[in-house]
Amino acid sequence: FNVCSSDLFTPGPTPLLPAAQFAMAAADIHHRTPEFRAMFQKVLAQLKVFVGTKNDVLLLSSSGTGAMEASVSNLTSPGDKVLVLTAGKFGERWVGLAKAFGCEPDVMSAPYGQTFDLAAVKAALKPEHRVVFLQATETSTAVRHDVEAIAKLVGQTDALLVVDGITGLGTTHFDVDGWGIDVLIGGSQKAVMIPPGLSYLSVSEKAWAAMETSKNPRYYFDLRKERKNAAKGESAYTPAVALIAGLGAALDYIAGQAGGDLEKGRMALVDNAQVNAAATRAGLVALGFTLFAPTAPAAAATAVAVPEGMNSGDVVKALKSRFALVTANGQGEMQGKIFRVAHLGFFDYLDTVALLGAMEHIAKHTLGLPVVYGQAVAAAQQVYADAVKE
Ligand SMILES: *Cc1c(COP(=O)(O)O)cnc(C)c1O
Repeated sequence: FNVCSSDLFTPGPTPLLPAAQFAMAAADIHHRTPEFRAMFQKVLAQLKVFVGTKNDVLLLSSSGTGAMEASVSNLTSPGDKVLVLTAGKFGERWVGLAKAFGCEPDVMSAPYGQTFDLAAVKAALKPEHRVVFLQATETSTAVRHDVEAIAKLVGQTDALLVVDGITGLGTTHFDVDGWGIDVLIGGSQKAVMIPPGLSYLSVSEKAWAAMETSKNPRYYFDLRKERKNAAKGESAYTPAVALIAGLGAALDYIAGQAGGDLEKGRMALVDNAQVNAAATRAGLVALGFTLFAPTAPAAAATAVAVPEGMNSGDVVKALKSRFALVTANGQGEMQGKIFRVAHLGFFDYLDTVALLGAMEHIAKHTLGLPVVYGQAVAAAQQVYADAVKE
């Protein structure tokens, strides 16, 4: 018997924040009215704080990939040499996008489950690279990349730095302006706890200047046009009004977690993800699973490998059928080998303990591992106790 129809533990979408659901249901307003303009301007101002930048932040009605495409189409010209740092499926998306817009990508890759060797990044960077693309966290492998260190290397060149922070925002501390991140991208179905359909991105002055001369075609995702409209409190085309209302409510909620201070609320959200990720890792290792990304684990999600000869799909299926708990299998060649659980936005200590309690049953009865009930939960509780200095 499951009280909830489903519990999403996936790295996007996440469970929906109730306050955001109410705001979405109430959002039947027209987008060329003072009511909408007031709401849109409020949300854009909140997003700047959430991203943590003085740069413009734009909101697009598209899934996260739309903002990735906008970064490529607005910043590059056909024939441009760019550098893509890839360590998984989302890094490979940058390669596909760069090629689709006629760029010539140099690709520096790290094996699945690992992050980049900084000396190799330094060696791969060439003066002719116009843009460097990477993920903050590679969700397909649950790896976190060292954006600060990579930004330092890119900062020694003229290249623009574009970071897909779609699962990094809300799970990683960034200093966008201090590190010199020219574009940082987020998505609605991740740490901000609302449905898919919105992406947002911060854009530096250097990136705006590059758009003056870039020649790739763009129409729906014309960032200069969006910037002009945003200054008037509008978007170029009909925006996803209900999602924007939901985003405003979610950001209010995050601020409310720190007495109304959104910057502090953002920090608390990131810290929460980090503690839950560490607790989840400890719990799953205590059950006999192997971390897929032991050297650079993300706080956005945890990926674990099942023991040799077992299929991670069996874990995903059993969690769903027994507990209505939805996790993610590995993508592509990682399917069947790993499964992933998220710590984005919505999840807290109670969710983590519940997940690990369910995992004990699955490890014992579905996979036949020697489990003593409580062993994963106890390991997670210790991590939590240490984090809150109990
Ligand atoms: C979810 C995600 C995306 C965006 O995917 P969409 O399906 O377009 O929203 C991009 N990059 C990363 C790292 C992600 O986790």
